[in-house]
Amino acid sequence: MNTITHGYLDWIKHLPANDADLATCTCLNCGATGLNYQYFGFEDSELGWKIVWCATCNVGIQISRTVIPESADALIEQVERERFLDHHKQLELIS
Ligand SMILES: [Zn+2]
Repeated sequence: MNTITHGYLDWIKHLPANDADLATCTCLNCGATGLNYQYFGFEDSELGWKIVWCATCNVGIQISRTVIPESADALIEQVERERFLDHHKQLELIS
């Protein structure tokens, strides 16, 4: 059972501006290095949301209303989102 040690704003302040830097960012919760991320979007919209998570302790943060970079591989189809959530059931998301 995880204990969530930090809140949403702590994470927002902690996370790097560039997604490329997430790979070397430490987890606020457990201190492990390297965070994963995934964008979720809508057809014909540059806005979506993003989940950033730590694969070590499975704590993550859900950031809503974010601009999806053109280079990002966002999940748009409902079935893709469901598959992602199905594969990441263990995540404890802060939002
Ligand atoms: Zn962690």
